[in-house]
Amino acid sequence: MSTTVTMIKVLLPKPFLEPFDYKAAIKVCVGDYVLVPFGRQTLWGVVWAVDTISTLQADKIKSIISVASLPPLSKTMRDFLEWTSHYTLAPLGSVLKMVLASPEALVKEEVVSMSPMTFHPHTLSPEQKAAGMAFQDAIRKQSFKTFVLEGVTGSGKTEVYFEGIKEAYDQGKQSLILVPEISLSTQWVDRFKDRFAVTPTLWHSDLPLAQRRKAWRSIAEGAASVIVGARSALFLPYKNLGYMVVDEEHDHSYKQETGVIYQGRDLAVMRAYMEKCPLVLSSATPSLETLHNIETGKYERWHLPNRHGVSVMPTVALIDMRHGKKTQGQWISKALQDAITETFSRQEQVLLFLNRRGYAPLLICHGCGHHMDCPNCSTWLVYHKSTSRLQCHHCNYQRPVPKQCPQCLEMETLSPCGPGVERIEEEVTQLFPKARLLVMTSDTLSSPKKLKESIGKIENQEVDIIVGTQVMAKGHHFPYLTLVGVIDGDLGLSGGDLRAAEKTYQLLYQVGGRAGRTHLTGRVLIQTHCPDHPVMQAIKHYDQASFLSLEAESRRTLDLPPFGKLAALIVAGKDPIATEKFVQTMASHIPHHTDLEILGPSPAPIHQLNQWHRWRFLVKAKKNLSPQKVIKQWLQAVNIPSTMKVAVDIDPYSFF
Ligand SMILES: [Zn+2]
Ligand SMILES: [Zn+2]
Repeated sequence: MSTTVTMIKVLLPKPFLEPFDYKAAIKVCVGDYVLVPFGRQTLWGVVWAVDTISTLQADKIKSIISVASLPPLSKTMRDFLEWTSHYTLAPLGSVLKMVLASPEALVKEEVVSMSPMTFHPHTLSPEQKAAGMAFQDAIRKQSFKTFVLEGVTGSGKTEVYFEGIKEAYDQGKQSLILVPEISLSTQWVDRFKDRFAVTPTLWHSDLPLAQRRKAWRSIAEGAASVIVGARSALFLPYKNLGYMVVDEEHDHSYKQETGVIYQGRDLAVMRAYMEKCPLVLSSATPSLETLHNIETGKYERWHLPNRHGVSVMPTVALIDMRHGKKTQGQWISKALQDAITETFSRQEQVLLFLNRRGYAPLLICHGCGHHMDCPNCSTWLVYHKSTSRLQCHHCNYQRPVPKQCPQCLEMETLSPCGPGVERIEEEVTQLFPKARLLVMTSDTLSSPKKLKESIGKIENQEVDIIVGTQVMAKGHHFPYLTLVGVIDGDLGLSGGDLRAAEKTYQLLYQVGGRAGRTHLTGRVLIQTHCPDHPVMQAIKHYDQASFLSLEAESRRTLDLPPFGKLAALIVAGKDPIATEKFVQTMASHIPHHTDLEILGPSPAPIHQLNQWHRWRFLVKAKKNLSPQKVIKQWLQAVNIPSTMKVAVDIDPYSFF
């Protein structure tokens, strides 16, 4: 007599294209999480098919060890993973790895219970109310729809999408709120607590292990009602997702650049479509892609034209840095100094913004012109005066500052070139010795606790002047901050990035939006060398519409996204000669297609990165063609050696 054994296919969280054969003596269903032997290890995987005929002999096939007592991974979710793998060209197993982000959670433990939410009503404007009701209606109907919630900074977008959370909760559905850089969102969580009297379930990469395990389990079991997370939260196995929000939808941190390369916002739309639930994209500065989808009728726009309550938008002025006398090592213009003095005398707060960490972006020898480069990358080393070290912001290589120039061997000839936040801090200390100063960068805000402390200091008016990088640009609300000074408005405009102007506009707008968010009127001063640039003019006149239509026009002419499709292939190898040779092999296999153009190979702008030599191909396709199939065939034709890495980036956002 033999027991019944079922043949199954199990997908494992490893970079494999296909599931593996196993057998099960216990009953399993498609979607079940199963523990299986794999080589010398055991691994959790997901049953992808049951009762399959194996090509291997049954006695060579291993048995599963156990099944997790959890709701199975839904058909919708499995379809979503298949779609993601197909779209990004990442192996299906690598996509599953993002789902099984806490394998410890699959082991049975105590049941997680959550305290119920209560809802504190909030006074909403007629516009806010109308938008909120539209979201609630779609949640009740359980139908897919993409809303765009567009509104100036401080217009109360968050309160509007909170309305949807309430409705989803009443319907017994889970809500997922994606936010950029969740670890910086302490003020967001406080607002949520004010409104719902509970803490939402958090999800991000810095979560401690135990908390991560608990969060994953409660999401899969359906006990967690509201999940707020980074882009990776998109891949969690929600039991009954009914409502999704992508906050600051234009933010580039939704793009994952390593492993499975994907754009979280775009995948969120696909996930909502598959889950048959509404999705809200919220932003003061929607991306061109999103605006294009409004224009073509795919998305529905809701607009909040005014700031909430009594506050008005800050005034914006440009400071032309081409004229006026320049003093060596001085970066704060006379006009900005005067504005700081004035604000300081009214006991209001100032934010000086420069999106550059460290003291100076490079050290250069004034004897021979040598600059200090990273030995692993083709980049400059950034000078951090606070730690007196040179640091590569790409590979994290560090070294002390040398006393002697490594090239001409002269002593004490290396000097800093250009400003970073530390240098602005130094200048502020000299100019305003009485001001209480706070520096906010990813170097000084290394933990959520430190961030909370810093925010508390600003809120309690223990600080007069804040010098900060882009960590200061996002979402924060400081009632006494009335002046924002941008040290170098042109910083993001150079380089080969097709979104450079759009990004700069969004960043300057967001930073400026920190000013005057209560009854105090704010102002924004931007130092620039190109005051006539469309970005500067748009910022100055709050003329988002004409800037974006100009920007759209230039992309339309060039068939660039959102009017055409783009993909990048980065080929990297440690041996420079072998890499170049392989790149030439790839070039000789370039596919030909009427609606597609392949540019390259060319050395990537950062040609050497962490000791890898990098080359780039750029695939441009007409809107009606999906480049994935062509790329897949191309890669299959060339036979990639194990010493080479080929990363496919569909719709690239970074061009280094
Ligand atoms: Zn030298
Ligand atoms: Zn480096």
